[in-house]
Amino acid sequence: MQVPAQFEYERATSIAHAVQLLGKYNGAGRLIAGGHSLIPMMKLRLARPEVLIDINEVAELGGISLLDDDEVAQLFPILRDAEKVIADPIVRNRGTVGGSVCQADPSEDLSAAFSALRAYAVVQGPETQRIVPLRDFFVGPYETVVGPGELLVELRVPVRTGGSSAFLKVSRRAGDWAVGAVGAAVWLDGDVITEVGIGLSALGARNFVAVEAEDFLRGRSVSADVLGEAGRIAAEHCDPPVDQRGPADYKRHLAATLVTRALQLACRRAGREV
Ligand SMILES: Cc1cc2nc3c(=O)[nH]c(=O)nc-3n(C[C@H](O)[C@H](O)[C@H](O)COP(=O)(O)OP(=O)(O)OC[C@H]3O[C@@H](n4cnc5c(N)ncnc54)[C@H](O)[C@@H]3O)c2cc1C
Repeated sequence: MQVPAQFEYERATSIAHAVQLLGKYNGAGRLIAGGHSLIPMMKLRLARPEVLIDINEVAELGGISLLDDDEVAQLFPILRDAEKVIADPIVRNRGTVGGSVCQADPSEDLSAAFSALRAYAVVQGPETQRIVPLRDFFVGPYETVVGPGELLVELRVPVRTGGSSAFLKVSRRAGDWAVGAVGAAVWLDGDVITEVGIGLSALGARNFVAVEAEDFLRGRSVSADVLGEAGRIAAEHCDPPVDQRGPADYKRHLAATLVTRALQLACRRAGREV
């Protein structure tokens, strides 16, 4: 299929207008942001919305540009790391953070990065707004808790002192989707890890996170052995898909190595050499 099936088009001018349009079409309307995931799905007839509701003109949704913002890079270096390795400038300029997260593609880099940061999603419905921890936002591959009448309007990332973060990705060629990618965020009190987040992309981790490795790390002192063991635990508990990007055992090895290295880099950025 080269062209999508016929659809109507509406342009939302505000969040309230987008919600109103979603209600008007009662499940037959679909939001379009960058369109980088939705349009290919429509061409393949994997998605067949009757109405596209374009949210590109909604000024309230235009937040921070992840690559350009120095404050974001300083507070959350993981986001600049991740953004730099997503596709190419054309895709990055058009694609949106909200669209990436709502697509819930298991290979999405930003879903893993924001999950590592323990971000919150703000979801707006016709009557109420709900705030959902990103870890509870993903229901499964390509599925989130966002209902047919709702839209994601914000991602909130808690700012905490004493920590840093990093994102590492291995792909077959520059700009490609990940063979495997890992985001790590650590918060330290001296040598001790007080809180940690580990996000995995394309490696078959439930809801993008390596919970068992996080539980292992919390309360332990940073050392090469401890971070190595966290990598091993993360690899043991993920379930990488076998596909054209490689066999499961290779991806599991990649998970262990990337988790350890991302944690090391995050610790180094937080001022703790390891
Ligand atoms: C060539 C190419 C290479 C790529 N490489 C990578 C890569 O390496 N790593 C990576 O992570 N991604 C990659 N992507 C994906 C890219 O980041 C997409 O832009 C992203 O997945 C979807 O964002 P979008 O704004 O285009 O969303 P859209 O395609 O417009 O929407 C995606 C889905 O989210 C829904 N949606 C959008 N916004 C909202 C909202 N605010 N509230 C509720 N639902 C909403 C839509 O209805 C749709 O179901 C690539 C894409 C392309 C085309």
